Order: sequence, then C-alpha cells, then structure tokens
Amino acid sequence: MERQFTKEIESLRLGDGETFHGEGILAVTKALLQAGVSYVGGYQGAPVSHLLDVMVQAKDYLDELGVHVEACTSEASAAAMLGASINYPARGAVTWKSIVGTNVAADALSYLASAGVMGGTLIVLGEDYGEGGVVAQERSHAFALKSLMWLLDPRPNLSTIANMVERGFELSEASNTPVMMELRIRACHVRGSFQSKKNLAPAVSTLHKLDGPPKEFIYDRLAHPPATFRQEKLKSDVRLPAARKFIVENRLNEVFPGSENVGIVVQGGLYNTLMRALRTVGLADAFGASRIPILALNVVYPLVPDEIVGFAENKRALLVLEEGQPEFIEQEIATFLRRADVPGKLHGKDFMHMAGEYNLEAMVRGLSRFVEIHAPHLDTSSGAAWMQSVQRTKEKASATLAALPVRPPTFCVGCPERPVFSAMKLVANEIGRPHVSMDVGCHAFASFEPFSQGNTLLGYGMSLAAAAGVNPMSSKRAVAVMGDGGFWHNGLLSGVASNLMNKGDGVLVIMKNGYASATGTQELLSSPPEDARMVAVGESAAGADRTIENTLSGLGVKWLRTVNNYDVGAMARTYREAMTTPEKGLKVIVAEGECQLERQRRLKPQVADKLKKGERYVRVKYGVDEDTCTGDHSCIRLSGCPTLTVKDNPDPLRRDPVATVIDGCVGCGLCGENAHAAVLCPSFYRAEVIQNPSVWDKLMHRIV
Ligand code: SF4
Ligand code: SF4
Repeated sequence: MERQFTKEIESLRLGDGETFHGEGILAVTKALLQAGVSYVGGYQGAPVSHLLDVMVQAKDYLDELGVHVEACTSEASAAAMLGASINYPARGAVTWKSIVGTNVAADALSYLASAGVMGGTLIVLGEDYGEGGVVAQERSHAFALKSLMWLLDPRPNLSTIANMVERGFELSEASNTPVMMELRIRACHVRGSFQSKKNLAPAVSTLHKLDGPPKEFIYDRLAHPPATFRQEKLKSDVRLPAARKFIVENRLNEVFPGSENVGIVVQGGLYNTLMRALRTVGLADAFGASRIPILALNVVYPLVPDEIVGFAENKRALLVLEEGQPEFIEQEIATFLRRADVPGKLHGKDFMHMAGEYNLEAMVRGLSRFVEIHAPHLDTSSGAAWMQSVQRTKEKASATLAALPVRPPTFCVGCPERPVFSAMKLVANEIGRPHVSMDVGCHAFASFEPFSQGNTLLGYGMSLAAAAGVNPMSSKRAVAVMGDGGFWHNGLLSGVASNLMNKGDGVLVIMKNGYASATGTQELLSSPPEDARMVAVGESAAGADRTIENTLSGLGVKWLRTVNNYDVGAMARTYREAMTTPEKGLKVIVAEGECQLERQRRLKPQVADKLKKGERYVRVKYGVDEDTCTGDHSCIRLSGCPTLTVKDNPDPLRRDPVATVIDGCVGCGLCGENAHAAVLCPSFYRAEVIQNPSVWDKLMHRIV
C-alpha cells in the first residue's frame, strides 16, 4: 500500500481529553470509533482513501474493539453492506469518492433510503468537486434530494468534523435515515487537532454477536412493494420532521453574529474560504469575527425552514454561497422565504458563478458586489486592491508560462504500462489507428502525448462496455484498455460478461500491475502474494497469481494471452495478432508487470539496508551514446519516460539536441526494447552501476 499509517493508528487509541493531531479525514476515522461504529467498509479513492487504508492497517486494534472492516470491491458492495443497520442496532460507516462512487452505489442507496435504518449509518463522501477534482464534475447533493437522505457538510476544522461524525449517527438513528457527509479535498487534508474521547466498544460486534435474525419478522424493513409505498410516505411525513427536529435541538447549524443587517448563508465546507474572503475584503478579523452575520450549514440537506426564516427576517439582503450547479440550496431557501413572506432580497448565483469551485478569488468578487449594493457604507477597498494584485500575478504567470513547453502528466519512471502503449503505437503505425476505449486508472495517461491513444472514458471498469457500440461499426477492431482494479470493480461483468453474452468481438488489454495503483496501490483479489513480488526490474511480478486468467477462461474467453509488458517485441506481436486474426470473439491480452511505484517503495528500504551493511548492490541504468544519436527523437516519441530526455548536442557541427537518460532511470529496459522492436538505432547502452563493489569487481574494472 502507498503509505504506512503507524503513527495514525496509534492516534486511534487516544482516550478522554487527549489531543488528536492530524488530517481531517483521519479525524473522521477516530470519531467513528468514538461513536461506537460496528462495521466499516468502502472503496478507496481520493480524497478519502486514507480512511479505509488506516482502518485496514489498524485491523489488530479493530479486532480488539470488535469492529469489522471490509475493503469492498466496489462502492455498490459498500452501500449494500449498510443493510446490516436496517434490522440491527449496529452503527455502520462506509466511504468512497463521489460523484463516481455514489453513482456506482446508487441502487443499494435507494433501497437503503427507502427501507430506512435502525442503527445509524454514515456515508463519508470524498466530494471531488472543484479545481483538484479528477472525476466528472457533479455534486452529491442531488442524491440526497432524490432519495431523501441527509447530507452533512461540516466546517473544515477537526473539532467540527469529529463532532459531526458522532451527531451524524445520532441524526441517522433519530430519523431512521442514512446520512451522508461530504468532505471536499481541502476538508480531508486540513490539519488541526481536537480533544478526543474514549472509543466505544460497539453493542453489536464481532465480539458481541447477534443471536440470529430479528425475533419479529417485519415486512416493512424490505424495500419491496407494497412496503415501498408506505416507506415513500414515511420519508416526508415522519423521517424528515424528525431530522429537522434533531438538527434544531442539537444546533447542528451555526449562527455567527455580526453587526450588519445583511447576512450570508454558506455551506459549512466553504466556511474557511469565506472567512478568508471576508478578511481580505476587510470585514472580518483573523480570529473569525465577521461584521456580516453568517449561517453556516453543517447540514445542507434537509434545511430547516424556521432556521432559515429566523436568520433572514429583519435582514435587508441575504447572500447564499453554494458551490456548483444547480443551486439546490438557494432554490429551497427562496421557497421558504417566499412562503413566510420575508421581504429581504435574496442573492446567490446571480452574484457568483454557476459551475466550478468557489475559491478565494470568486468569493472576494461575489462578496464585494453584494456589499457594494446592500451595505455600501462598508469599506471593501482592500478586496479591490487584492483582486488587482491577483490579476497582475496572473498576467505575469501567463506571460512566463507561454514560453514553456506543454508537459502533460505521464506514467511513473519505469511504469509497466508504458511499454504496452509503445507496442500499441508501433502496431498502429503498421495497421492504422483503432478506436481505443480508455478506463479510469494510470493507463489513462496514455491519452496524452506521446501516445495519444484513447477516444472515450466512461467510468471505472467500463472501457469494454463502452466499446460495445463502436466495435460492430468499425472496420478495425476496437480496443478497450482496463486496469486490474477496473476489471474487478466493474469490468468483469459490465464488459467481459456482456461481450461474451452478445458474442461480441474486439480486443481487451488488461493491465495486470497487481494493485489499484491510481488510488494508492491498494490490494486486489489478484494481487501477487508477498513472496512473488521481489523480482528484477523488467521482469513480470504479477505472474504468480492467475486469478484474472482463470476467471476469464472459466467465463468462456477462448483467445487469451498473458504477456510480460516489458517485452515490447512480444507485446507488439501479440497485439498485432489480436487485431488481425480472423478468429471471432473477444481477444484478451493480460499485460503483466508490477506497478513500478509500489515496487520502488518496497525496494528503497531494502537497498538502503544493503548499502548500510556494505553489501554489493547492482543497479541497472540505460544510457544514450551521444556520438551515434541522430537527434531524431523517435525513441522519445515511443516512450515518454521522464528520464529519457534531450540535451545540447556536444558536436559543434550538429545542431539537433541528442537524447539522453538522466539520473532517475530505474533500468526498466524499455529504452533498449523500443530501440530493438522499432529498429531505431544502436545508440542505447545498458550499464550496471555497482555499489560496494567486490574485490572481483574492482579487479575487472582495472582490467577492462
Ligand atoms: S502508479 Fe504504478 S501503474 Fe501507475 S503510473 Fe506509476 S508505476 Fe505505473
Ligand atoms: S530504461 Fe528508459 S524507459 Fe526505462 S526507466 Fe530508464 S530511461 Fe525510462
């Protein structure tokens, strides 16, 4: 796994009155235990991966408490796991990246929300919306609205986050409704501290097991007609009022008073940015005292009409700060105010942009406009000066950046996926470019230069399914590329099973690198066993496990090849055959090579230990002979490795820069393979760098 959380796991044991230090997402982990959670599950994904990673690594301690932890194979499995809280008084929490994970989990969530829960359930969502987001830009809010599940959006400080975890369970139980908690990337990684409490051993746990199913069979706990019709009524008639009552009685939302008679309603998660903006405009101090009253919504759904009306009445105008589209909160507030005949003006999206993150600049701009119109006596000149300085910096940066070459993101140095795309590019030069259906994962980097292979991206594990419509209409076979993470998440059923059932054709390349690498190298069903992992660079390390191949064969895939990624020649031959064979049916290439990042992480301490002990260590490195390099850079166009670059031509008579391999090359061998497979040039050489050389090495060095 990407990180060892030894220190964080220790923090999970903190007791009453001790101080927890760390990141927001780790505060959630501790708060779950303080709340007496019985079971935890989820699917990793930024920015909430650490929650599950810590729980998985803390298994020994969780066993002591009786808390069950499940690393689920998808968000759908995680959501369905919450079914344990429908019939039993067990608190459960799951986590995933939203919006994508919530989409995957949607079916189970609808049924869970319909049936309702007895034990508190909390779904911790990594709200990947805004400038750091890496998925389709949509909000989780829509899911809360459609299913009538409650949505928390705590102010990003550790005390509030931890408190909202505990209150979230209580809210869930008080209203028999699942509760979601959205945490944006900044909230997950905000650092701080909070006063911890003793962890609660759960009432129902692996130590205190259930006697059996509920004594009384209650049909209404099944989300099945006719119960679903009653459940739909219960949501608005019983659960919603109960939730609103709990929110008010426990003051989950916070009012920060101010001297002006205008007000701001803000999603809790945006509070820190708002305070910074108010300070920039000159309307708040460094300790959070604002001249404009603020209603911070730690619960963004459901809103409480009386709370909103109470805050708005007697105010000349209200500004709603709600990130993203559409303006769900603003529309609901408008309805409340209209129904109560509150006369003040309501602003929101008319002063702020509709789509995208509310960063500091956007907030300062919107606030300044609001204040200029509704509180013109306030001096906001410091905000205007700040905006001008931002503008000047932007102009300077764009002038500087315009002179720099574009540097698209790419694979790690030595990544086993790079050689596969080199081979695909070589074959495409011969037979023409096919339609390439990409997937979520590291291999999506191949959609950038120098490979530029990838025409669609439809979701995790969806590449083969996304090629189903293209393939029958294409003169060349469509190619789907998928990681082993995507294969287990969704690709096996959505892609492979569907293709087989429809007697489809096409080529599927599965990158078997051993882990869910893009999310932090979490383990998969097909991860290689520990003892199969330490092999030389350039050799296949995922080979000891055949789970993917066996599954495919069992399912009925006839054309199936496993190829070592780093062998570009073999990969190109196999891929060419898959693309051109007259044989009908799905062709699957399992491209096997361990994630280099994971490998290097494992290797680093071992090498350091060897060197410290004075033991001999050989490191392979590739190089380019600058005298024979022609400077045409075809090697770079076939690789894109960050350590294969250019330098000035040492020959004063030649102007083209020559290729060079800089320090950092891990000796994966792709350079040599490409030179050979593409018949490039004889410029590449392989060197062995020997540290702590033996007597024999020294002697050979002298002779040679
Ligand atoms: S994390 Fe692993 S699979 Fe992903 S780009 Fe890096 S080496 Fe390749
Ligand atoms: S051998 Fe070539 S592709 Fe492999 S790490 Fe070194 S420079 Fe990069």
